[in-house]
Amino acid sequence: MPETAEGSCSIMSRFTLPRDIYYGENAIGELKNLKGYKRAIIVTGGSSMKKGGFLQKVEAVLKENGLQVELFEGVEPDPSIETVFRGAEAMRKFEPDVIVAIGGGSPIDAAKAMWVFYEYPEKTFDDIKDPFTMPKLRTKAIFVAIPSTSGTASEVTAFSVITDYSTNIKYPLADFEITPDIAILDTDIPQTMPEKLTAHTGMDALTHAIEAYVATARSDFSDPLALKAISDIYDCLVDSYHGDKEARGKMHIAQCLAGMAFSNALLGIAHSLAHKTGAVFDIPHGCCNAILLPSVIQYNSRVCMDRYADIAKAIGLPGATDKQLTDALVESIKELNRKLDIKQSYKENGVSEELINQNIEKIAENAVKDPCTASNPREIDVENMKKVLLCAYNGEDVTF
Ligand code: NDP
Ligand code: MN
Repeated sequence: MPETAEGSCSIMSRFTLPRDIYYGENAIGELKNLKGYKRAIIVTGGSSMKKGGFLQKVEAVLKENGLQVELFEGVEPDPSIETVFRGAEAMRKFEPDVIVAIGGGSPIDAAKAMWVFYEYPEKTFDDIKDPFTMPKLRTKAIFVAIPSTSGTASEVTAFSVITDYSTNIKYPLADFEITPDIAILDTDIPQTMPEKLTAHTGMDALTHAIEAYVATARSDFSDPLALKAISDIYDCLVDSYHGDKEARGKMHIAQCLAGMAFSNALLGIAHSLAHKTGAVFDIPHGCCNAILLPSVIQYNSRVCMDRYADIAKAIGLPGATDKQLTDALVESIKELNRKLDIKQSYKENGVSEELINQNIEKIAENAVKDPCTASNPREIDVENMKKVLLCAYNGEDVTF
């Protein structure tokens, strides 16, 4: 994607985050600071936010503040283009001046895309598919995001991942226009995550931070956020997985730091491949990243071993040379996966030889075209993308 890659390079010496971040226990209450608005639409997923009582809390605070409230419920995991258009339609009818998205990455991402089509009904999905091509937002509403998982960091990022189920392709929409205005990191909410979700979303966050630290658009602003996120995730993810309350809270903040980093530094080919394998193999996004990360580090280490060595040193891994430190980093990620009960290869995760053989060509072609490939530290063509994917499929080392 030479054209958009060039466009994004010039934009990339920019660092954009939400204006306000509220965090801590019961941070939902800080919605009381939302003054001067009339109508809020709350976008959420299935039932988890209602079950936990968080949806009701959000509604209550908004109503106390004098806002009229409408709900848009039922955003599915890995939201579709159709859901996005249904939500935009609901927004056009209700005319909110505040959009509040509460839930995992899926409802937050869907709400971001709804926001675009609410403000610009004449736009089509194709019009906004290329990175940094979105029209100016906030002409009708501001955007508040309240994450319930500790992984995607969609509450602070310029991304929204929407799936086209007619082709099974995930499109990472990207533009600083969709960076939320307000993020609320209420550390009570991730406490209700089931173990597996905690593991998968946690590895998604780690992948964000590691890819951001080596990405071509990294900067002095993103580096410290990425490193701090990585060391905090190493400190608390396993305890968080086992349900420790404090670790869950710390993970919620750490994943957000990772998000601040990658929203500006961008990502790499672990995400390109995760975007293209997730729907085809029916494996959650974070789990794909957990499988791919060791292979991708090995592939990229040809050009940025010193950066991986920095990470290894920051988390106290042993090694006298950059090579030893990078090997130690790869080994520590595999160990982390074992502690989180994530099987290391696609094969062990139940992907059949038939399924990979049928799809590998298409996946590799699409992954090369994914916007995340443009910011990967080492260039890659379809042949090498296939090889990296095969190594991740078999759980073998990448040596080329
Ligand atoms: P989802 O939002 O897809 O949620 C997955 C499941 O977890 C849902 O069934 C949901 O239930 C449940 N759930 C969510 N929070 C809780 C909770 N606190 N307690 C109990 N259950 C809960 O998960 P993710 O956050 O992992 O988001 C994944 C999506 O985000 C993918 O589409 C991925 O591609 C995208 N993504 C976006 C990024 C970005 O920058 N925007 C970056 C990385 C990934 P229910 O529906 O009932 O609420
Ligand atoms: Mn991700």
